[in-house]
Amino acid sequence: MSTGTYSNSDRRPGLLARALARAGDLVVPPVCVACRSSLSVHHALCAICWRDVAFIGEPLCDRLGIPLPFDTGGPSISAAALADPPDYDRARAAAHFTGTTRRLIHGFKYSDRQEVRVLLGNWLLTAGHDLLGDAHLIVPVPMSRRRLFWRTFNQAALLAHVIGQRSGLPVSVSALRRRRATRPQVGLTRTQRRDNMEGAFAVSKSKRDLIEGHNILLIDDVITTGATVNACARALKRAGAARVDVLAVGLVAGEVPLTP
Ligand SMILES: [Zn+2]
Repeated sequence: MSTGTYSNSDRRPGLLARALARAGDLVVPPVCVACRSSLSVHHALCAICWRDVAFIGEPLCDRLGIPLPFDTGGPSISAAALADPPDYDRARAAAHFTGTTRRLIHGFKYSDRQEVRVLLGNWLLTAGHDLLGDAHLIVPVPMSRRRLFWRTFNQAALLAHVIGQRSGLPVSVSALRRRRATRPQVGLTRTQRRDNMEGAFAVSKSKRDLIEGHNILLIDDVITTGATVNACARALKRAGAARVDVLAVGLVAGEVPLTP
């Protein structure tokens, strides 16, 4: 690969759009979304930051979306998913939550940067290709009111809107709501994490029609222990969702062996 810039966008702007983009570059020159070094295009990473992204690719566990050590030639389920099946149907994430991905998500949490949103939106569209084809409605993981107050925006909701605009699927940010705050999951056992999240989410009564009988695509920025998206999936399924898939930018998981 030569030096240059890297983005997953395949859109080819027309002449007018290109001219406007060039005029825009004179005002705001393009920089690497992660390290701010100068680039020739917007919404992209420099070669150094790009190399520091650990994208997740096939073969994957069909349920958890975690990488598998070898390809079996068809859909595979990891031992981890068989031992403790998730409440959602399938999860997919664009990259491991390390290096550039971690920096982008942390930066995004505390400042809503348009160029980060565009780049992460591209990654989500690629990672969630199969899930988007089956989805009827996009729903972001809701944030507690207290955290929303301090951050002023919910990054999962912003990502959901980007995916909605790019895929043409409807988005509902109010279908799922947080009923109560939860304590941090760090240091909790699997059972404690589940108890901590139990009943934390519910489907708004006025939005039940949007959920019942439909395939929901749940969006979050990072899947860490999976307890949050599992609790959301349980609430959506209790409200009659036919299927709940999960799409996130980052995933905290290691490679696990296939079940024998
Ligand atoms: Zn960079």
